Amino acid sequence: MTDYDTVSADVEHEEEIPEDHPRYQDLLTRHRIERGVEKGITHLQGMHAEGRGSAFDYLLGEETIPSADEAERAAAAHLLLADRPVLSINGNVAALVPGEMVELADAVDADLEVNLFNRTPERIEAIADHLREHGAEDVKGLEADARIPNLDHQRAKVDADGIHAADVVVVPLEDGDRAEALEAMGKTEIVIDLNPLSRSPQVAEVPIVDNIIRAVPNVTAHARDLADADEAELRKIIQAFDREAALEEAERRIRDGEL
Ligand code: ATP
Repeated sequence: MTDYDTVSADVEHEEEIPEDHPRYQDLLTRHRIERGVEKGITHLQGMHAEGRGSAFDYLLGEETIPSADEAERAAAAHLLLADRPVLSINGNVAALVPGEMVELADAVDADLEVNLFNRTPERIEAIADHLREHGAEDVKGLEADARIPNLDHQRAKVDADGIHAADVVVVPLEDGDRAEALEAMGKTEIVIDLNPLSRSPQVAEVPIVDNIIRAVPNVTAHARDLADADEAELRKIIQAFDREAALEEAERRIRDGEL
């Protein structure tokens, strides 16, 4: 039997966290965010965002609920049908799922774009390098030669041939203002966020209420499963997905779920 009390809150390597620990995913997530802060990838505020997410995940039972799985399949269908899909990467996303985002980009032929709330050239470079270490070939977000309308200067910056020109964007853990501004530009937004009441999932065409650690690999798995599906089948999956019902179901689980 594992003596869980011996697991320090500050492990050196994530392999030291026992996989059978009842709070394994939470410890792993916390550890990755801490490492992200140390590496200059994640802003200190990212730790706070993670704490919020972790509380919602606890209430969801730390599992992908069926309505989230449906959202993840619909997200895969949107990405496969898109002409110019882009996956947006911020400091928490880079710390938590760098390799998984690279794999998803490969599976659906999407671009990766670094997009930060607290933008500094050093952090952009550090994140781009981190993604390259995890297999990314082309990383956008360094040009920042276009603007999202109706946002303040720093948060509006995007690449003209990246998010600005995208038809479908995946914006995990996105701030509500930017999610609203992207929606106003007419983008199809896929948001990953554990809080169904947050503005970002509320404006998304596909709100995925799930931990990004589980959500991204599952979208990739659906995309691989649907790789040979024709357009009609993909459109059917998109039409069958009910965003309001998915948000309601997630909220119901959080309020009424048995712990
Ligand atoms: P909004 O501006 O949209 O109203 P907010 O101010 O509640 O959002 P922030 O604190 O800016 O949100 O961002 C953190 C969001 O990311 C929270 O909604 C939180 O639930 C979510 N989050 C944090 N960690 C994860 C994770 N690992 N997976 C999915 N979502 C997460």
